[in-house]
Amino acid sequence: MPAESKVEKIPIGISSCLLGEKVRYDGGHKYNSYIVTTLGNRFEYRSFCPEMNIGLGVPRNTIRLIDVDNQTRCVGTVDSDFDVTDRLKTCATEQTPWISTIYGYIFKKGSPSCGIEKVKIYRNEQLERNGIGIYARAIMDHFPTLPIEDEDRLNDPLIRECFIENVILYKRWREQQ
Ligand code: SF4
Repeated sequence: MPAESKVEKIPIGISSCLLGEKVRYDGGHKYNSYIVTTLGNRFEYRSFCPEMNIGLGVPRNTIRLIDVDNQTRCVGTVDSDFDVTDRLKTCATEQTPWISTIYGYIFKKGSPSCGIEKVKIYRNEQLERNGIGIYARAIMDHFPTLPIEDEDRLNDPLIRECFIENVILYKRWREQQ
């Protein structure tokens, strides 16, 4: 029998809820079977939930993005005095040691913490869809060349292939540093 060839899995970060962990505000998850099973053959996932990390717990009150004097803040949907922006930014900074050891990151779409684009944001009480989650934004600032995608965009076969290729190239590049 021919020897089984073993493909080395590449470590990447991922929003915990996409793996089926019950960390969402309502105690639910957003298990993504394609990401877990098919992409899971290529990637070794490092799961992380910033909202759990900063101690919001489950269940928790929902949060949303608002624009205050051209600055994005993340506050309680009901109580806008409950502001977790700085805690999420600090949380991102604290994760840099392990994120330095990964080669890509898959985020949950639309989240005020994890969304990488088109997140709902309220400007003068007008809803727009061009925000970026606070934690994701901070990770992008810390690691501007790290390949990132959200789970929704990975449904597109071209974007998916591009992401996998970018992760492989980024790993090679980093290993040559
Ligand atoms: S989207 Fe991010 S913050 Fe929200 S439950 Fe998933 S991992 Fe946690």
